[in-house]
Amino acid sequence: MEQQKRLAILGSTGSIGRQTLETVDCYPQLFEVYMITANSRVDMLIEQARKYMPEVVVVADEKHYNTLREALADLPIKVYAGADAIADAVTLHEIDIVVTAMVGYAGLLPTMRAIEARKTIALANKETLVVAGDLITRMAVENRVPIIPIDSEHSAIFQCLVGEGDNPIEKIILTASGGPFRNHTQEQLLKVTRADALRHPNWSMGNKITIDSATLMNKGFEMIEAKWLFGVEPSQIEIVVHPQSIVHSMVEFADGAVKAQLGTPDMKLPIRYALSYPNRLVSTDRKLSLTDYASLTFERPDMVRFPLLQYAFDAIGQGGNMPCIMNAANEIAVAAFLAERIGFCQIAQTVAHTMQHVDFISAPTYQDYVATNDEARNIAARYIDKI
Ligand code: NDP
Ligand code: MG
Repeated sequence: MEQQKRLAILGSTGSIGRQTLETVDCYPQLFEVYMITANSRVDMLIEQARKYMPEVVVVADEKHYNTLREALADLPIKVYAGADAIADAVTLHEIDIVVTAMVGYAGLLPTMRAIEARKTIALANKETLVVAGDLITRMAVENRVPIIPIDSEHSAIFQCLVGEGDNPIEKIILTASGGPFRNHTQEQLLKVTRADALRHPNWSMGNKITIDSATLMNKGFEMIEAKWLFGVEPSQIEIVVHPQSIVHSMVEFADGAVKAQLGTPDMKLPIRYALSYPNRLVSTDRKLSLTDYASLTFERPDMVRFPLLQYAFDAIGQGGNMPCIMNAANEIAVAAFLAERIGFCQIAQTVAHTMQHVDFISAPTYQDYVATNDEARNIAARYIDKI
């Protein structure tokens, strides 16, 4: 029997985390859950720990430590709390694959530590590459660590590239659903509510990425993610709105051939592939039936109605700490929108303001990213307070 792979699932209580655990349920002979983490949903974390019996459980928010420890006191599970504990535990030598399924900037430090410890990275946390793609990809090369994407578009591109060796990529065609407001006018966008924005047409995901999908910030992030993962320039990445979310992305090669990966809109497939690469596992999940779709359509995105996509191109064009600034401002603005403190269009305004007011650093170190993230959050929060 093939040796089981031991997984650390960072963000096991989230949408990707839970689907990763469901994937383990389907292939118990292949995967073992060694470590799980969450931020504050401690009851779910306790339930998961009792079911999967990992060696290590960590809750990022330290105020939940006692609850977690007491609830698991009868089990031989090591329990820790705090962001540093997550970053320390991912380096344990028993761990083979670190699934980065936590949301936001919090993914950066544990991903760096996991790379240094030479763990295979199954990357869902795209913010890590948005904030510090240069640093992360450099570290991955130095440590010879594979970063296997879970994001459906990047998994598609990765799958298109298997077997292509050094054949150069002419262009990446990154598909976007367009989100729930694809056909909204500017006037309509001014009035959309939290509930409207959380109703994604094709995908069921965590709240933050669902809002990022509605603003198209998510597609901007994915353009930056693709640049770092596949070593292409932003000018080689074409974004195409494809509302059916069946073609998950495409790669064009120098000879004009275009390869695509298709499937139902279901994150289980990219999760499965990231865990089993280079193998493909047999699955009984619903398969794609093309005749269920009368047509597959493709159109250009509108960067006037959805300025955050343009800001992502601006940020990566400037480089340095600018994508980190953009990400931090977006995190603060999305949280404020979810708390119904600001309107939908004010998310982009907050990001634009913050990008203009944080000091630019052209070749940031890790410490610079930490300082930039703090400064950008403060500036974004102050801007929102005045709205
Ligand atoms: P969710 O909001 O559903 O889950 C986020 C997870 O991260 C939860 O386990 C949460 O814990 C944990 N978490 C939140 N804040 C912190 C923190 N400060 N420190 C440590 N852990 C934290 O998000 P998703 O699963 O939707 O997304 C996770 C990542 O995957 C994101 O980067 C997203 O962009 C990416 N992604 C998601 C896709 C999807 O289909 N959902 C598709 C492609 C990419 P708690 O439950 O306790 O709050
Ligand atoms: Mg995606």
